[in-house]
Amino acid sequence: MATFIPGALPGETVLAEIVQKKKSFQRGLLTEVLKPASDRIDAPCSVFEDCGGCQLQHLNYNASLAWKQSRVVGVLERIGKLPGVKVHPVLGMAEPWRYRNKVQLQGGRAGGKAALGYFSSKTNRLVPFADCLLLPQVFNRLKDYVQEFLHSNWPGMRAKQVVIRRSAATGEVMLGVVGECPPLPWEDILNRFPQVKSIVVVDPAARQTRLVAGKSKIHDTIFGNHFMLSFQSFTQVNPTQTEVLYAKALEYAGLTGNQTVADVYCGIGTITLALAAQARKAVGVEIIQQAVLDARENARRNGVDNVEFYAGPAELVLPRLAAEGLRADVAVVDPPRAGCEQAALEAIVEMGPRRIVYVSCDPATLARDLAWLKERGYDPVEVQPVDMFPWTAHVETVVLIERK
Ligand code: SAH
Repeated sequence: MATFIPGALPGETVLAEIVQKKKSFQRGLLTEVLKPASDRIDAPCSVFEDCGGCQLQHLNYNASLAWKQSRVVGVLERIGKLPGVKVHPVLGMAEPWRYRNKVQLQGGRAGGKAALGYFSSKTNRLVPFADCLLLPQVFNRLKDYVQEFLHSNWPGMRAKQVVIRRSAATGEVMLGVVGECPPLPWEDILNRFPQVKSIVVVDPAARQTRLVAGKSKIHDTIFGNHFMLSFQSFTQVNPTQTEVLYAKALEYAGLTGNQTVADVYCGIGTITLALAAQARKAVGVEIIQQAVLDARENARRNGVDNVEFYAGPAELVLPRLAAEGLRADVAVVDPPRAGCEQAALEAIVEMGPRRIVYVSCDPATLARDLAWLKERGYDPVEVQPVDMFPWTAHVETVVLIERK
């Protein structure tokens, strides 16, 4: 019977305690690894088991890439009923550590002290840490500093979250505290951490972001274009692999300069601007109003004038644009985990693209949407997974889909 045991690896002999029995599967808790898999390694992180943010640190990196590839194949077969689609080996990182450009730390208490850390998987239990290996060193040091400050000045800890983001291209760092916070010693922070160019405090109840020191946005360069990132701006969290992902998406788009292309779920327009450079016209659709304002400003800043951005849910905006007669030669979609709403997919099909490029962060909803598109005459041609989140179980994929 299929038995799910977190922490066990394929091919291992383990001792486990069965905690749940169902008709066709059961769940167990790992007690002891009796015969380890040859790919098992010692997880380098000291809080690996307690934190749960990484799920694969006990598996060697190449084996984790192979596992991710087979997971995509399996999900496409099971959920999408799409056997035989070409799934390429996962594009991994040469140096898969300290890759994140953003972290959201939770505020809480641990060991009788105010602390910052991650919530243990599926709980609100705070796991403090000394050195998260997915974060640049400066994030860990800044975390220690803010944690010590909050402990000394406000042991009650009412800061909900501390967010740190950095531009990989310029090294500029932004520090944000969400929730109540005593006056931050910003001069000392700027002295000790010269990379910090922006400090903000966010009041989530009033939805207000107050600039404490420096400037309100930091500079970044993403796939050749220049961007100003505000505290709320969404960007991909792994800048090295973003370049790999976007290059693949652009290659699959196959633009030659005279097409109209739709970029759905466009965020601040990072992919849209790259598409626009190779197309006659690009149209971006994004639900967050501020992101669309940022996208327009970013387009102007980069001298790109053949783009239009629309704010609103794709499932409402796209049907309207299709009804108004918008046709697209190529559509790129990059939805959140939930995948695309059917109304959005229907409108895309109505726009009649020859190609659809689907960028996905969840193979299950991807498989569902691919199956739907196949029924409408759009076949998945090839699938390229990219390792955006090394040591976690997450898989990012980009798929080339063509009209029959
Ligand atoms: N392509 C961008 C953003 C991808 S993340 C990039 O690479 O940076 C997915 C984006 O979809 C987010 O910006 C999110 O705000 C947006 N989004 C979520 N639901 C949406 C919806 N129903 N309609 C349009 N955009 C949506």
